[in-house]
Amino acid sequence: MKKCIILLGAPGAGKGTQAKRLEADFALPQISTGDILRAAVGNQTPLGLAAKQIMDIGGLVDDSIMAGLIEERIAEPDCAYGFILDGYPRTTRQAEILCELLNRQGDGDLFVVNIHVPEDTVRRRIIGRRSCPSCGRIYNIYFEPSRDGNACQNCGDTLVHRSDDQAEVVDRRLAVYREQTEPVIAYYQAQGHFYQVDGFRAIEPIYAELCRILQLH
Ligand code: AMP
Repeated sequence: MKKCIILLGAPGAGKGTQAKRLEADFALPQISTGDILRAAVGNQTPLGLAAKQIMDIGGLVDDSIMAGLIEERIAEPDCAYGFILDGYPRTTRQAEILCELLNRQGDGDLFVVNIHVPEDTVRRRIIGRRSCPSCGRIYNIYFEPSRDGNACQNCGDTLVHRSDDQAEVVDRRLAVYREQTEPVIAYYQAQGHFYQVDGFRAIEPIYAELCRILQLH
């Protein structure tokens, strides 16, 4: 049965880290809408040019634009056995749209997991976050620095500090999360297939709990 996994949580809660591990271990593609938008920004496509202005100030890209993007992505062949959504849905409207898309695709097991982390912790995590532009590995200068300083210990590329991970933008992103994304939790709680995990722990125990919830072994 197709597995549709939705990872919810504030920016910096660890969605990307956990999604990458699930992808590597279980061959389910990670769909990070943030990564897709950043690639569009990098390629200077019309979508990228419009999205950049919004992302730079910590806002959300329009629901209808995101709908087109996600519809196209989950129709790709690598999603035939399921996928892991990381960063989508971010509004209750996006959740409704996703529900329609999944219904149209037919049967599938939906798992919604909220990775909960206190706001002061996610703030530090985001501000300290550095990522490798080549292999995608994520580090944190406070909690988990690269052994090679500012170079990725996996592949040697120079680590980057996302422009929207700068302190000024982070507060805005957290406010947007509180106002627009937190209600998505209640949306899925009401539907009944909702799990919450404590994200204020090391990566390993969170991952083990996720695997149990998702019945992946
Ligand atoms: P992320 O990497 O998930 O933190 O996303 C980075 C930025 O991309 C967000 O702050 C938003 O500006 C934009 N973005 C990513 N996913 C979405 C989404 N589902 N809806 C609207 N904007 C999004």
